[in-house]
Amino acid sequence: MTASALNPATDGKTAAVIIRKVGIIGAGQMGNGIAHVAAQAGYRVAISDLKAENFDKAIDTITRNMTRQVNKGLMKDVDMRASLDRIEFAPGYENFADCDLVIEAAVEEEAVKRRIFQELCPKLKKGTIVASNTSSISITRLAAVTDRPEKFIGIHFMNPVPVMQLVELIRGIATDDATFAETRRFVETLGKSIAVSEDFPAFIVNRILLPMINEAVYTLYEGVGTVDSIDKAMKLGANHPMGPLELADFIGLDTCLSIMQVLHLGLSDSKYRPCPLLVKYVEAGWLGRKTKRGFYDYRGDKPVPTR
Ligand code: NAD
Repeated sequence: MTASALNPATDGKTAAVIIRKVGIIGAGQMGNGIAHVAAQAGYRVAISDLKAENFDKAIDTITRNMTRQVNKGLMKDVDMRASLDRIEFAPGYENFADCDLVIEAAVEEEAVKRRIFQELCPKLKKGTIVASNTSSISITRLAAVTDRPEKFIGIHFMNPVPVMQLVELIRGIATDDATFAETRRFVETLGKSIAVSEDFPAFIVNRILLPMINEAVYTLYEGVGTVDSIDKAMKLGANHPMGPLELADFIGLDTCLSIMQVLHLGLSDSKYRPCPLLVKYVEAGWLGRKTKRGFYDYRGDKPVPTR
């Protein structure tokens, strides 16, 4: 799909849309992916992060990923340049004043997200929709710290965003119909498929996926298998495209641990207790691919198991 085909502002056949500019908080792996697909669909995008260098890294990643799309004939070079031009760095929330939708994609820590929303909302227009890309945290609880619970919604993209088809939409208890409808329309203009989930810990995908990953870490912790044998077993034995430990490294072990903690606390069931080995890796700062070490060491030419 080309940018112009998706661009709601220029497509004469599409009814005028409310969302034209999208703010994104957090320029990590999810933030840069969301910026990529939104800019490609014709939206203006402003990204904020704690560090300007993270924005630079995000632009490098988006450029690399779009170049791959151009090389595969999935995007025109001219559309790539136009898309990149639509993305700006917004160091403070002041630059979000003209955004119609803001998507928070900062770290999976509830205290951090609450602080962001409390600082962000007073800087926004009254009608701006506020969303979180959280993997697990209650949308209703996050909405409650804002000045607009009825305009707050969960938009849960999958990683890597430009490749993965699914987006989960999660309504908080107060989310109104207009916000849900407009958000649904926005996600559809990105060319994604939607699964609607009720607002319970970790929603649908991660409620099912993360206990499987946590169990793989227990399997390693208890010595049932090595990193190699566990990933091989699930790839060749269950036909998974990636092994669970490889996938954990890809998601980020800090994010995996946070999701398990939300499940454990939110559902009060010991079957969700995070594996102590997962805790140890996070304590070591071995967070997976993003820190170049997790269940595999990525510092060499090819990934080497760390256990
Ligand atoms: P990440 O660690 O790659 O990026 C997080 C970014 O947020 C970092 O650049 C960090 O500097 C920035 N940040 C932290 N505090 C901030 C603040 N106060 N203001 C602005 N920026 C701040 O993490 P990620 O994998 O991109 O995950 C981001 C969110 O997306 C999390 O809520 C996570 O649960 C969710 N998510 C992750 C995945 C995945 O597979 N990694 C998939 C779906 C959803």
